[in-house]
Amino acid sequence: MGEFDVQVAVVTGGARGIGAEIARRFARDGARVVCADVLDTSDIVAEITDGGGLAEGCKLDVTDAEAAAATIKSVFEAHQRLDILVNNAGITRDQLLVRMKPEDWDLVLGINLDGVFNVTQPVAKLMMRQKSGRIVNVASVVGLMGNAGQANYAASKAGLIGFTKSLARELGPRNVTVNAVAPGYIQTPMTDKLTDDQREALLKNIAIPRLGTPGDVADAVAFLAGPQASYITGVVLNISGGLYI
Ligand code: NAD
Repeated sequence: MGEFDVQVAVVTGGARGIGAEIARRFARDGARVVCADVLDTSDIVAEITDGGGLAEGCKLDVTDAEAAAATIKSVFEAHQRLDILVNNAGITRDQLLVRMKPEDWDLVLGINLDGVFNVTQPVAKLMMRQKSGRIVNVASVVGLMGNAGQANYAASKAGLIGFTKSLARELGPRNVTVNAVAPGYIQTPMTDKLTDDQREALLKNIAIPRLGTPGDVADAVAFLAGPQASYITGVVLNISGGLYI
């Protein structure tokens, strides 16, 4: 028996990086994982199903509220349950504020924050009726500590943390927990853009001097979505190797 046997988990941004690793982690422990992404998800879905796991993919741009509601509806209709939502889709468009283009502000807030609203609202309605569910939001330590050149990203992730805490209060009475993870620097396509100098400077500020792995984040997400975390809601679990303490 896997920890997540028969459960249905939706992971946004599940095509690659941290989201794909979260999908692998849930599938390994028995969940049926739905990877929802603007990118093609066939590679991760094939990898999981070839390994004997349960996975399906769907094309979804989280900024499209109607499409998000339709996706959630069809997942629920197909499986008659939706146990876990991981809001993982996210982007960066880094620039110092004085040079930041308004469209890059809008894009980051639109995906990282409005996108979470679009997907979570229909899921919350279902989970409230179901009287069970787990929502885990992938924030960032940058939402807690700020970072020069990331005012848009930091604002989106700080907003996501406020959203998490508010929703935890709204949904707790219905046995739905809502938590966030706040990764530090994790080795993914998002951080592959760092130069060697930037990487070296970064490591000086991390108590455990390495970048995190997607697995480090997936383990924390699985914990918050699993049976051992049934009395934990509204928390922000920092996974940064001590970058932010
Ligand atoms: P990534 O770029 O590898 O993956 C992000 C995924 O989100 C991609 O598959 C992408 O297609 C998808 N996505 C982007 N826009 C979308 C949209 N409009 N609709 C649906 N899907 C969309 O990045 P990652 O590093 O795996 O990041 C995953 C999450 O972790 C993000 O929310 C990111 O902010 C957060 N995070 C990452 C790090 C890090 O160091 N990598 C640190 C802290 C937080």
